[in-house]
Amino acid sequence: MTDAPILLLGAGHANLLALPPLRAALPGVAILLIDMADRATYSGMFPGLVAGHYRADQISVGLADFAARHNAEFLRAGVTGIDPDARQVTVARPCGAVRRLDYAQAALDLGSHGAMPEIEAFAIMPTP
Ligand SMILES: Cc1cc2nc3c(=O)[nH]c(=O)nc-3n(C[C@H](O)[C@H](O)[C@H](O)COP(=O)(O)OP(=O)(O)OC[C@H]3O[C@@H](n4cnc5c(N)ncnc54)[C@H](O)[C@@H]3O)c2cc1C
Repeated sequence: MTDAPILLLGAGHANLLALPPLRAALPGVAILLIDMADRATYSGMFPGLVAGHYRADQISVGLADFAARHNAEFLRAGVTGIDPDARQVTVARPCGAVRRLDYAQAALDLGSHGAMPEIEAFAIMPTP
């Protein structure tokens, strides 16, 4: 038995959808959501932002508020390493501080990253 939290690594669509039922199933367990951004954007509405139908705040959710609503904690940090044998992750805070965090279970949802240098506009992708 461990007191270490469940870590949701990345506030991708999947981890955000997993948090409410996870909390309902495990009401007494510490859950820590970690993401390098402080807001998560719903990609399906992104074209509407580009078209001017929505503002950025209408298609995204503040992660600290979202976590608090589900009795979880939020840590803004980039995940830089995972040691499954030691059950620890290494994270870097925006200030540069590095921390190692114990976990009982961890769910990885950091999205995908592509590099397509053959597409000239790839380097200047818009961000909300
Ligand atoms: C413009 C656009 C429109 C789309 N429309 C649709 C649609 O209509 N229907 C559909 O099914 N799919 C759509 N998609 C695809 C869909 O968004 C993705 O499949 C989905 O977001 C993938 O979810 P995910 O949970 O894997 O991670 P993501 O939602 O990509 O989230 C990854 C998260 O991880 C965080 N992160 C990344 N690296 C780190 C790190 N090292 N440390 C900490 N945090 C990190 C990021 O900040 C982000 O919050 C669209 C995509 C785009 C770009």
